[in-house]
Amino acid sequence: MKKDLKSFTRKALVKEMASLNLPPYRANQIFQWIHKGCNDFDEMTNLSKSMRDLLSRDYTLTALEQVKKQISQDGTEKYLFQLPDGEMIETVLMRYKHGNSICLSTQVGCAMGCQFCASGMEGLVRNLSAGEMLDQILSISRSIADRISHVVLMGSGEPLQNLEEVVKLLNIINDEEGLHISLRHVTVSTCGLLPQIYQLAEYKLPINLAISLHAASDDIRQNMMPIARQYSIDELLKACDSYVEMTNRRITYEYALVPGVNDYPEEIQKLAQKLKGKLCHVNLIPVNPVDGVFPAHHRQEGYQHIVRILEKQGISATIRRELGADIDASCGQLKRRSKEEL
Ligand code: SF4
Repeated sequence: MKKDLKSFTRKALVKEMASLNLPPYRANQIFQWIHKGCNDFDEMTNLSKSMRDLLSRDYTLTALEQVKKQISQDGTEKYLFQLPDGEMIETVLMRYKHGNSICLSTQVGCAMGCQFCASGMEGLVRNLSAGEMLDQILSISRSIADRISHVVLMGSGEPLQNLEEVVKLLNIINDEEGLHISLRHVTVSTCGLLPQIYQLAEYKLPINLAISLHAASDDIRQNMMPIARQYSIDELLKACDSYVEMTNRRITYEYALVPGVNDYPEEIQKLAQKLKGKLCHVNLIPVNPVDGVFPAHHRQEGYQHIVRILEKQGISATIRRELGADIDASCGQLKRRSKEEL
């Protein structure tokens, strides 16, 4: 099988090209072409024809096929991509004054089965390679003829279950010879895979880590997220404390507000007690309607009192502005699609 050069960090590419007797500056040229959006070795015009033929023989450049694009009333764009093996994923683009932000998928489907999320409805199909994640950025950037400045790993999939490829992607997009996206503009979210949180901390990356917490009581969290049956909230918070100690980065706790389940004052008070004194921020997310999941109780307003309870304990909190709900592009709405659905 041909190796995908989009999945190579620059350092790995230099090593790989050395095995073909190509000097490091050639690897740099190839890396630069890839990150300019080049999908064909023949377009790499500063390489000789024989070099390009050599590359085409043994290597490939993963290119996702843009199958569909939807634009929300608020300007959010959702892209449906077909992967080389025919699987489909979705990616969301949000345009802000401070730049263009992409919400990437890291897996086809998801094994985690969170109750409020469409992505996990059909289970995990497979991990995405670093190249397949990178091409979501390259393809959208090319399509809008503009730079992507912020990346959020919150599309379908649990990023930390695909940790090796995700770390590779972060190295690739941060490279100054490539997209040069600041890691401070990258957010990685997790439903709380403890061993991987400890592993991620070891890399000491200046990324933003977002933890899907969603409850302060174990029984409530267990009903919402199967992973909570494996690790208690206290164990999770301990791992997060250790992450903050190692990286000195503030953690964001995501809290999906489900009416009558976890949005009443006692549960929020409990949350405030658990998070008091921690280097953190709470992102409150009014739950979105997903087919068959909490369809009836969608509520976006009236959560300011929750912000006040948290702020009283010195915890910063905001209510996330909902974007793209009319095209199912909001949190928890990305779903594995098939061609038949189009
Ligand atoms: S919320 Fe995240 S971890 Fe949970 S099922 Fe959805 S994609 Fe997977």
